[in-house]
This record gives sequence, structure tokens and C-alpha cells, in this order.
Amino acid sequence: MLKIFCYPTDTFWRIKNLDYALKNVFSILKFNFVEKKLLSDKKVKLRDLLLCKVSDINSYKQPEFWFEEEKNFEQQYLQTPKHNFHFYDGFKLQELYSKFIRFKLKECHIVFTQRIITTFDSSDGRYHCRVVVLGYPCIISISGFTKALTFPKEYYSVRNILPQFAETFKEDIYRIVDKNFAKFLIKYIFQCIFYIYYGEEFCFEEFCLHNDNHWFWEVYNQVKQIKTKQDVLNLLCSHHRSMAKSII
Ligand SMILES: [Zn+2]
Repeated sequence: MLKIFCYPTDTFWRIKNLDYALKNVFSILKFNFVEKKLLSDKKVKLRDLLLCKVSDINSYKQPEFWFEEEKNFEQQYLQTPKHNFHFYDGFKLQELYSKFIRFKLKECHIVFTQRIITTFDSSDGRYHCRVVVLGYPCIISISGFTKALTFPKEYYSVRNILPQFAETFKEDIYRIVDKNFAKFLIKYIFQCIFYIYYGEEFCFEEFCLHNDNHWFWEVYNQVKQIKTKQDVLNLLCSHHRSMAKSII
């Protein structure tokens, strides 16, 4: 049996409470919710964590020094998650998490974090926010639902001149994510499973649930349709549907 290990580490969201919603879709997969905090002030060297930070999004090379305030923030964050607007290199963070997880074959390990994760794109020479980083372990950034997915360009052009509009817009977005949280998660958990078990990073078909969609509304319009396992199968292209049938 394929096993999924979930680490709801440093999230405000009670992911464990979504067990029922997830099992409704992934009925033959075994979900294990691992309660232990992967990164804690007792386990992780603060230096290793601070080296995961991205201070300059326009450079792959990051400064290897930090201010006392940054160090204090990280230390407090390890004890109690709170709002965190810093950027982290997803692959460096993944390497750090991997030191605290023991992997076996046929296992998919997913770390859920509130941290904003980014990866460097050498084609335009800058870091970009991501919802998910695939690998061992996979990381799903809960903040990524609102930070990595892109809103219509009108929002970015008016947010500085109409702060009240931007505020209301963001509140609506948070409400949508809150209400459909399990559905958003299902899309990205699928992405992890398809990658780990089939080596499929994402689908090129825009309509497929396994597509790496960039637009928030695109993702929302997909995931809001999910209520049952059959809805998920209907949202996949034929290639990924046949794979999904054997795992859900
Ligand atoms: Zn597909």
C-alpha cells in the first residue's frame, strides 16, 4: 500500500482535522499525520535555517550573514508559528527537513508549512514564490495559496493607489481559501503523489488538476468542483485519470 506521511508542522491550520475530507477522495491511500515538529529550537541549528532565507530575490547567491532581529524572529517562530513574511529557498528548506525524516520506498512525505517558499528560475534570474516543492520530502506552503498564485494584473496595478480596495480583495481571497482549504490541498497533494510514485512533475493540459496553474482563479475554479472522488477523476486528463484510478 502507498503511504502518505503528512507533517503539519508550523501551520495555523488544523490539517489533521481535514482527515475526513482527504479520506473521502484518497480512500485507498493511508494518511499518517505525524505530529512532531520537524524543526524546533532544540533540533535545528538556527544558522542552517537562516541560510535558507532569501533576502534578495534577484540573486541566487544570498548573503551569509543576518541581523540579530532575524535570528530572534526565527527562534520565536520555531516555538510559535505566527505571520511570517520572509522568503525561503524551497530546495534548501527541503534539504533541511530531509535530515529529520526517515524515508522508505513507496512512501510520500509531505511537509506543510506556513513559510513562503520560493525557487530560483535561471531563465529570468530571480526567485519565484511556489505553492509546492516536489521531492524528498515534498513541501506544500499554505501561504503559497495566496502568495504564489497570481491575481489579475488589475489588482497589482491598483493595490498601491487604492489600498482599501486591495485590503478588501485580499480578505475575500482569504475567505475563499479558508472555506475551500481541503480542496486546495487535494490539488497539491495530488501533485506530490504523481511526482513521487510516477515521476510526473505536472501536466501540460491546462484543464487537468495536475497542471501547475499560475492563476488563483484558475485553481479555484478547478478545486471548487471537488466533492467526491469521481469529481477528482473528472478533473484529470485521461493520462492522469488512469494513474489516479489505481491510487485513489
Ligand atoms: Zn493531466
